[in-house]
Amino acid sequence: MSFDRITHAFAGNPLDRAAVLRTDANEVARLLASPDAGIVAFADDRPLIAISDDGSRMDIVWLKPADILTHRADGSPLILLGVTQDAEQGTGRTAGKTGAPRFACRIDVGADGEPDPAFSSLGKFIDLRSLAVQGLLARDQLGILTQARSLGAWHTRHTFCANCGAPTQAADAGYKRICGGCGAEHFPRTDPVAIMVVHHGTDCLLGRQAHFPEGSYSALAGFIEAGESIEEAARREIFEEAGVLVGKIAYHSSQPWPFPSNLMIGLIGEALDKTLDVDFEEMEDARWFPREEVISMIHRTHEGGLFTPPDISIAHQMIKSFYGQD
Ligand SMILES: [Zn+2]
Repeated sequence: MSFDRITHAFAGNPLDRAAVLRTDANEVARLLASPDAGIVAFADDRPLIAISDDGSRMDIVWLKPADILTHRADGSPLILLGVTQDAEQGTGRTAGKTGAPRFACRIDVGADGEPDPAFSSLGKFIDLRSLAVQGLLARDQLGILTQARSLGAWHTRHTFCANCGAPTQAADAGYKRICGGCGAEHFPRTDPVAIMVVHHGTDCLLGRQAHFPEGSYSALAGFIEAGESIEEAARREIFEEAGVLVGKIAYHSSQPWPFPSNLMIGLIGEALDKTLDVDFEEMEDARWFPREEVISMIHRTHEGGLFTPPDISIAHQMIKSFYGQD
């Protein structure tokens, strides 16, 4: 099994997030006034994407502030994503501050969910899942949009204070909301999910839920609950869903999953034995698969038409990695 670094889809955001500048309104204004400043427009959760004439390549459309800010959706903050950095500038706390500032904001949409038609001459508004599956947008650009989408979705869902119910206002260039009533500060959330490839020898436990595409089998997963360690959550989920007891657990890799703001934490677990007691309320099926069968599922040559999830998912990458197919 290889533990080489894997750049998962949605990871690999190359921006220097310039976190030290967020809290200084003058610095943020200076970045916005830079001739290199660019803003990516979102129509709800869909960013504006340029498509090359031959349809083979996509790129984020970086708009000038003057071209977008008058279209900003009511209450939508201008989010500072960071600044670009090149290899010579390196990375870190002070590097890259002279790079191009990058922002995101949501624009007005009509009742049909579509923005001002003027934007359609620049590109198309495309959801992130489609962008990832199509694979025509460079992974680093997808990483930038992951940060922007998760933050944008958080703002639209947290316009009122969970403490007192009064309206909240965005602050710190989009990294905080402050309640106008009680003064409580609210911060963007990330919801951790444990996902585990469980094996017994070279056999592997995979399951499917009723909403999966027909034939698709994946590693089992679940949200980490309050007061749980990652390992405890993973062992609990596997036992609840499949009745399998897991012993040793190793960390594999993680993946941001911006629907809206999950962090998939990928683990490899050793089952104590091959006992199986599937909860058919939660799972449509779960089984032990032998090595050769899983390899045919990875490569989509399985005789029965079974397959692992698409390569944008951490489940696919971990299963491939476990069987040395990467
Ligand atoms: Zn409040």
